Amino acid sequence: MKTEIPTPKPTKKRKKIGLANRILLAMLLGVVFGIVCNLFLPESFNLALNKWLLNPIGTIFLRAIRMVVVPLVLFSLIGGTASIGDIRKLGRVGIKTIAYFMLTTAFSITLALLFTNLLQPGAGATPMETAQEIAASEAPFIMDMLVAIVPNNPFEALVTGDMLQIIFFAMFFGIAITLIGQRTRGIVELFEQLNEVFLKIIMLVMNLAPYAVFALLASVIMVQGIDVLRQLTKYLVLVIFLLLIEAFIVNGVALAVLGKVNPITFYKKYWPVMLVGFGTSSSNATIPANLDACVNKLGVPSSIGSFTIPLGATINMNGTSIMQGVAALFIAQVYGIELGLSQQLTIILTATLASIGTAGVPSAGIVMLTMVLQQVGLPIEGAALVLSVDRIVDMFRTSANITGDAVASVVVAKSENELNQDMYNQI
Ligand code: ASP
Repeated sequence: MKTEIPTPKPTKKRKKIGLANRILLAMLLGVVFGIVCNLFLPESFNLALNKWLLNPIGTIFLRAIRMVVVPLVLFSLIGGTASIGDIRKLGRVGIKTIAYFMLTTAFSITLALLFTNLLQPGAGATPMETAQEIAASEAPFIMDMLVAIVPNNPFEALVTGDMLQIIFFAMFFGIAITLIGQRTRGIVELFEQLNEVFLKIIMLVMNLAPYAVFALLASVIMVQGIDVLRQLTKYLVLVIFLLLIEAFIVNGVALAVLGKVNPITFYKKYWPVMLVGFGTSSSNATIPANLDACVNKLGVPSSIGSFTIPLGATINMNGTSIMQGVAALFIAQVYGIELGLSQQLTIILTATLASIGTAGVPSAGIVMLTMVLQQVGLPIEGAALVLSVDRIVDMFRTSANITGDAVASVVVAKSENELNQDMYNQI
C-alpha cells in the first residue's frame, strides 16, 4: 500500500509577521522582567529562577538550532555545488560570479572587523562569565588551519561538527556528483529534498524563539545588570550602520569602478527590490522581484541574470557575513575574551564560508553564527544576546544581501559586454 505523505497547507504570511512581532514583544518583556528582577528581587532568587527555568528554556532552544546546523550545511552545500554543475557550461561567467561573491564577502567582513575593533561595542562592562569555562583557544598557525580543512574522516567531521571540514567535504561531493552527471540526478533531488526538510525544521524551531528570547534576555539582564543593554544597543547601531555602508557605498563603488556604470541610476530603479528584501527578510523570496529588476530594468541579459540571482540568493550573503563578523567580535568583547590576529582571520574565513552555507530564509544567518562562534572557541550562548535584536538586523542584512546579487549581475554582464546600456540608463 502506498503511504500518502500529506501536503501541509502553505504557511500564511500573517503567521510570519506574527512571529517577528512576538519576538520583539518577548524581547521587551524580557528586558523589563530582567530589570525588575535585578533591581527589586534578592540575588539568590534570581539565581534560582535562572537555574531552574530561564537557562533551561534558552538552552533547549539553542540546542535545537545547533541540531540543525550540521545536516543543513551538508545538504544545502551538496545541493548548491551540484547545481553549480553548470559551471562548465557557463564557463567564465560562473567563475567570475563566484570569485566576485567570495571576494566581496571577504572584503565586507574585513570591513566589519575593522570597525568593530575600532569602536569596541561590547567592551566597557564587567566581563560576563560563560556557563562552561570557554576561553579563547590558542591561536592556531594559519597553515595548520588550512591543512586541517581537509578531513581525515568525513564522518568524524560530521560527528564532531567541524564545519570547515564539512563544507570542504560537501563541496567535493557536489563536484563529484556534477562530474558524473545525469546518473546522479536522483541523489541531487534527494539532497534538495533533505535540504527542504531541514529548512522546515528551522521554521518549526523558530516558533520557540519568543520564549527563548524572553528567557535568555531576562536571564542575562537580571544577573548582569543593565550594562549589557547599553552594549546591545551599540551593537545594533554599529551593525546597521555597516549594513547601510555595504548596501550603498561598497556596492555603489563596485558599480562605478568594476561595472563602470552610474550607481545613482541603479538605486533609483532598484530601491523597490531592496524593500522586498527588507520586508520578507528572505533572499529566496526576493528572487522573482530581483530577477525582474535586473532583466527588465537594469539591462542584464536573462542568460546571466537567471544564473547569478538564484546562485547569489543561495551563496552570496555579504550582509550576513558582516553581521557574523561584528557579532563574533562583539560577543568576544562582552565575555572579555581577547581575540588575536589569527583568530580574527579565522572569523573572516569561517564567516565567508558560513555565509555561503546560510540559506536565503529569515534568521538563517543567526543559526550559522553559532558555527562561527564554535570555530573560534567563543561561547555559543553569546548568540542569544544578538538573537534578541536579530529580527531587525535580518531585514537590513537581507536588503544588503540581495543588492550584492544584483550588483554582481550588472558587473558580470558588463564585463562580458552584454549589459544593455540603453536600458540601464533609461529612468
Ligand atoms: N535572511 C537572510 C537572507 O535571506 C539570511 C540571514 O538570515 O542572514 O538573505
